[in-house]
Amino acid sequence: MSDMERPTEQIKVETTTVGCDGGPLGHPHVYLKLAADGEIVCPYCSRHYVLVKKPPESATG
Ligand SMILES: [Zn+2]
Repeated sequence: MSDMERPTEQIKVETTTVGCDGGPLGHPHVYLKLAADGEIVCPYCSRHYVLVKKPPESATG
């Protein structure tokens, strides 16, 4: 009896524009542009996209 589903699925992205098609549920493929705060919620499936900063390439040292 361990049903710990999150209310909204949070998806980490590295680009300010993401494409969403609803996955298994299915909805018209749309492109979502992340807001200035780096977040956007799909109006179709309520997925929560969050922009993540990529770590610096040069990690030598
Ligand atoms: Zn969606």
